[in-house]
Amino acid sequence: MTAARTTAAAPRRIRALHIVVLAIALPAAVAGLFIPVDVPGGGDLSPLAQAAIATGVMALGQLARLRFRVGAGAVSVTWGEAAFIVGLYLAPSAWLPAATFVGAVLAWVLLTYFSDRRSPLEILHVAGSLTVAVAVGALATRAVGDPFDARLTPTLAGALALGSLAYLLVTGWLAALTLSVRQARPAGGLFLRALRAKLLMFVGNVLVGFVVISMIERDLRWLLLLPPALWLLQQTYGHRLRADEERRLWSAFAAATRELSRLDERAVATAGVSGALSIFGAEAVEVDVIRADGSRRRYSGDASGTLAEADVREPLPESLPEEAAGLVRLTVAGATVGELRVRFPRALEPAQREQMALAAYADALATALHDAATHQALKALTERSAFEAVHDPLTKLVNRAAFLIKGDAAMRQVVREVPVALLLLDLDRFKDVNDTLGHAAGDELLQSIAVRLGELVEPGELLARFDGDEFALLVTDLEAPDGDRSSPMPQALRRARALVEHLAAPIEVAGVVMSVEASVGVVVAPAGSADVAELVRRAENAMYQAKEAGDSVAWYDSAKDEASTDRLALLAELRDALTVEDQLVLALQPAVDLDTGAPTGVEALIRWRHPRRGSLSPVDFVRAVEGSDLLAPFTRYVVDKALTVAAEWAGEGLEVPISVNLSARSLLDPHLPSDIAELLRRHRVPARRLVLEITETVVLSELEVIDEVLGALRDLGVQLSVDDFGTGYSSFTFLTRIPVNEVKIDRSFVRSMADAPTSAAIVNATVDLGHRLGLRVVAEGVETADQRAALAALGCGAAQGYHFFKPMPADKIVAVLRSLLDSAQAQVFPLRADGAS
Ligand code: C2E
Ligand code: CA
Ligand code: CA
Repeated sequence: MTAARTTAAAPRRIRALHIVVLAIALPAAVAGLFIPVDVPGGGDLSPLAQAAIATGVMALGQLARLRFRVGAGAVSVTWGEAAFIVGLYLAPSAWLPAATFVGAVLAWVLLTYFSDRRSPLEILHVAGSLTVAVAVGALATRAVGDPFDARLTPTLAGALALGSLAYLLVTGWLAALTLSVRQARPAGGLFLRALRAKLLMFVGNVLVGFVVISMIERDLRWLLLLPPALWLLQQTYGHRLRADEERRLWSAFAAATRELSRLDERAVATAGVSGALSIFGAEAVEVDVIRADGSRRRYSGDASGTLAEADVREPLPESLPEEAAGLVRLTVAGATVGELRVRFPRALEPAQREQMALAAYADALATALHDAATHQALKALTERSAFEAVHDPLTKLVNRAAFLIKGDAAMRQVVREVPVALLLLDLDRFKDVNDTLGHAAGDELLQSIAVRLGELVEPGELLARFDGDEFALLVTDLEAPDGDRSSPMPQALRRARALVEHLAAPIEVAGVVMSVEASVGVVVAPAGSADVAELVRRAENAMYQAKEAGDSVAWYDSAKDEASTDRLALLAELRDALTVEDQLVLALQPAVDLDTGAPTGVEALIRWRHPRRGSLSPVDFVRAVEGSDLLAPFTRYVVDKALTVAAEWAGEGLEVPISVNLSARSLLDPHLPSDIAELLRRHRVPARRLVLEITETVVLSELEVIDEVLGALRDLGVQLSVDDFGTGYSSFTFLTRIPVNEVKIDRSFVRSMADAPTSAAIVNATVDLGHRLGLRVVAEGVETADQRAALAALGCGAAQGYHFFKPMPADKIVAVLRSLLDSAQAQVFPLRADGAS
C-alpha cells in the first residue's frame, strides 16, 4: 500500500536500488504467467477478462491515494492491501504479479500526466516494488490456501491477512530502504516509523478487501456502497497522518529553533539551514546573511546532508517574486538581515500550515542572526578594550599594570630559586626632546625606541613601557651564550649593556638625528623570592644609582636600598593616620591566671587599617616608625588609646591593667615619662593600671638615659614588663638590675617546651626566679591545651595566646573580661573562654 517517491536527484545508489528491484520484479511477474493455472468454472468471465480486471483493480489501488511527507521524502498511502486481496480473489494468484506491474505502470503514467511528474525509471521502480511485494504476499497466502474464486472462510481470511502482512512488510521495507539511501539515515528506524504510522490503514485496508469480496460473492450491487465507505476511511487515514505530520513538524520546529541560539553567524546560519531541512523535509535550503558592511554570505544545504558556504556578489532583489512560496526575507525591526530560501519537495506545494511555520522559523532565524551579529560586535569591542587595558597605546607594548601581572605569571612558570632578572631602562634627557622638538617628536622617539628594544627581546621575555620614558624587561632565562647559568648577574648586565648600545645608534626623529642615552637598573633575584612589583622597585632603585653615578648600567645593591621610596610614602601616610581616629586601632588580647582563670591583664596590639594597603600588622610598619621622628607621636597615640580603654573599664568597674608595647628607641626619649604622666592624668587612670612592655634586648644596652627613663617611669608608678623574655643575652642579670613587675616568657620557648629540654629548663628557671623576686610570670603564645597544662604544672602563673583568646577588637573585650571574672569568682575555670574545650 505504500510506494517510495523518488526525487530527480537520484544518486547512483538509488539507481542501483531501482535495478535490483526490477531485476526481482520482472522475472517474478513473467514466471507467474507461465505457471499453469487451473481456472475453475470461474463463471462467465474469460481468462483475459479476469486478468484485465485484476490489472484494473491493482491500478485503482494506486490511483486512489493520499500523499504525505515524511522527512525529506513523501509517502503515498494507497489501497494496496485491499487491491491485493480483491485481486487474489478475482484472478489466479500466479498472474497477480504481472497484473500488478502492468496496473501500477498504467496508474503512475496517469498520475505523472495529471499531477505528479515522475521519470520512467521512477515509475518502473514503484511498479517493481509493488510487484515484488505482491509476489511475496501471494506466496504467503498460497502457503495456506487459494482464495481464487473461493468462498471466504475463516481459514481463507487468515491466509489473505497473512499475505497482506507480507505485502505490507515488503513495501514498507523497500520504501524505508529508498528513503534511507536518499537521506543517508538508517533504514531500520524509518521502517519502524512507517509501520507504526500505517498500522491503522493496514487493518482498514484488509477489512475493505474482505468486505469487497463478500459483496462480489453476494450481489455486485452492494459495491455501490463502497465509494462512500472508502471516502470515510480515506478521511480517517488523512486525519491520522496529518496529526502525525503536525506533531513531527512542530517538534522539529522546536528542536530547530533551539539550535539557533548560537553566538556566531556561521553557527546560527548552519543551524538555520539544517533546521529548515528537517522541519520542512526540504530538498534544498539557502540562508543568505547580510553583514554590517553590506557583504553577503550564503549558507546552503540539501537533503543529502551536504552543507556549503560562499560569498555572494549580486545584491538582493528589491522585492520578492510573487510565486516564491519558499522564499522569506529575514528582518529584525524593519532591517533586512538576510534571506531564507526553502525548496519544498517537488510537487508538494507547502500547505498554509507550512507557510506559517516557515514565517515563524524565519523570524526566529532573523533574530538569532541579529543576536549573533550583535554578540560578535560586542566581543570585538571588548577584545579591543581589553587590549587597550593592558597595552600602552603609543608603543603597543604592555603597560605597567599588565607587566606586573604577566610578569608574576611568567615567574611562576620558572622553577623556584632559579635566578630571573628585571631590567628597568630610563631615557636620559628625554624631557629635552619633548621641550625642544615637541611632544609629537617625543612620541615618535618613544615608538622608535620600542621597536629597537623589541629587536633585542628573546622569546619568552616580557617588554613593557611604563609611564613616560621608562621601559622594563623581564628575563626569566639567564643562560649565557655558552649555556652557563652559574653567573646570572654578569649575564643580566651584558643584556643591559646591549640594550644601551643598541639605543645609542643614531635615530632620526622629526628630521633630527640623535643618539639616545639611557640608564638601566638591573636586579637579579631567585624566582619566588619577590614579586615583580618588588623587583621593579629594586630595579628603580638601581636605575637611580646609575643616574646618580652617571653610569649607563647599575645593579641593585640591597645595602643602598632602604626601601626608601616606599618607606617615605608609608611614613607620610602614618603622619596622616595619626591625625584621625579610625586608622590606627588597638587589638586587645587578655592574659589569664592559670589557677583561677581570672584576667591578669590585657595587651594592646596596634593595627593599621590602611585605606589603600589594607590591614597592616605592626611588623609592617613599626620598624619604619622607629627610625623616624614619628616615634614619639606614635607612642603617645598608642598610650592615649590604651588609656582611653582603661578609663572606660574603670567606668565599668573593671580593674584590669592594660599593657602597651614600647619600642626600644622610646626609652631613649627623655620626655617619655612626663608624656605618659600627662596622659595618665588626663584619663584619670591610676598609674598601676598601665603596664609598659619592654623587650629585654634593648634594656641591656647600658645607656645612662635608659636607666633614667626607666627609673622615672617606675617612679610614676606604672608597671614594667620584660617582653620576649629569654631571647636576650643576659636575661637573668637584667632582672636583678632593673626592678620590673612582670616577665613574659617568649613564645618560642612555649612552643618548643615539649620537645627541647633546654626550653623547658628556661621556662622552669624563669618561673622559679619570678617566684623568688615576686614577679608575675606570663607565658606568651600558648596555643594548645597541652601547653597550658604543662605551664600550669611548672607553676607558671599566667598565660596568653590563641588557646585562650586571639587579639580582639575593643568592643568585644568588656564582655569577655566580665565573663572571665564571673567564672573565676564561681571557681569554674573554662578551658576556653568561648566554652568549647
Ligand atoms: P609581642 O609583644 O610579642 O606581641 C605578641 C604577638 O604575638 C602579637 O602579634 C600577637 O598577635 C601574637 N600572638 C598572640 N598570641 C599568640 C599565639 O598564641 N600564637 C602566636 N603565634 N602568636 C600570638 P602582633 O600583634 O602582630 O604584634 C607583633 C609585635 O609588634 C609585638 O610582639 C610587639 O613587639 C609589636 N607591637 C605591637 N603593638 C605595638 C605597639 O603599639 N607599639 C610598638 N612599638 N610595638 C608594638
Ligand atoms: Ca608584647
Ligand atoms: Ca612578646
